[in-house]
Amino acid sequence: MQLPAWQTALAEAFNDPQSLLSYLQLKPENLAERQLAQHQFSLKVPRHYAELMAKGDPHDPLLRQILPGGEELVDRAGFIDDPVGDLQAKQQPGLLHKYQGRVLILTTGACGVHCRYCFRRHYPYQNGTATPAQWQSILDTIRNQSSIQEVILSGGDPLMIHDPRLAKMVAELRALPQLKRLRLHSRLPVVLPQRITPELLELLSSNRLQSIMVVHTNHPNELSPALAEACEKMRSAGITLLNQSVLLKGVNDDAETLVRLSEGLFEIGVLPYYLHLLDRVTGAGHFEVESNRIESLKAQLLQQLPGYLVPRMVREIAGEASKTPV
Ligand SMILES: *Cc1c(COP(=O)(O)O)cnc(C)c1O
Ligand code: SF4
Repeated sequence: MQLPAWQTALAEAFNDPQSLLSYLQLKPENLAERQLAQHQFSLKVPRHYAELMAKGDPHDPLLRQILPGGEELVDRAGFIDDPVGDLQAKQQPGLLHKYQGRVLILTTGACGVHCRYCFRRHYPYQNGTATPAQWQSILDTIRNQSSIQEVILSGGDPLMIHDPRLAKMVAELRALPQLKRLRLHSRLPVVLPQRITPELLELLSSNRLQSIMVVHTNHPNELSPALAEACEKMRSAGITLLNQSVLLKGVNDDAETLVRLSEGLFEIGVLPYYLHLLDRVTGAGHFEVESNRIESLKAQLLQQLPGYLVPRMVREIAGEASKTPV
């Protein structure tokens, strides 16, 4: 059987710093520390995403998001392995129920790209992900709680699951009468736009549930023509498109970049939803933005953008009943 194009592209993703640096015409520097950082969380970058980076620029904002480096090995006070309390909130394997009316399913541990700032970089996915066997008990749990109206497929990245299995999962969710909405959080439309297959569009739209796709972009350079095309297809299929970003030092911590991101997203039919402050996860301290700078950015965004293009700035605090506005 022939693999879908997106799976072939994933198999060809960069997986070591040296070949990525050489592709970008950068000096292969600090490879020993990069290897050490790789042991904690490996490098993974589809070629499409690498093509959006500037050749010869070691400070490229997309490169900074994915290149392992020695700064990750520095211990920082307050940075821990499970900053958002996922392990504590875990009711049953693969299911997180922290907020009223919506549950989050950890469908897979796999991602199409490895983001160095990711709060799940230390998450023990082996026991935290829904296996097909656990899936049935997740469905039972949802069925027995009539207050749950929305299911969020997350991970990892739910679009790493191939379409036939995803179609089966969605069909089973659709059969739960109290569910109204199905939300997916994914970075694949950004790093691998060919993932938006006709089969995926079909399974998300031929369906009584309202579908929402929360894409995850952090910088306007990520808004490629291929992403615009994928978004156009999703919109035509009736899927509501939102974006979430993480505020990252050296990537998007200036008003000009964030304004361009919001405007660029709107041009391709995506509304800014959340701008998350960094989760204080071990190894990501070099991405943290100082609090006075955060305040000033917030004021500038309010001033420079129409209200509907200002993302809600939030932080996730373990044990809280929602994301916490900043
Ligand atoms: C972030 C999150 C949600 C979604 O929260 P919204 O404010 O609805 O976007 C739901 N469940 C969990 C466990 C979450 O971490
Ligand atoms: S795609 Fe999302 S879950 Fe996966 S590494 Fe990046 S931020 Fe983390």
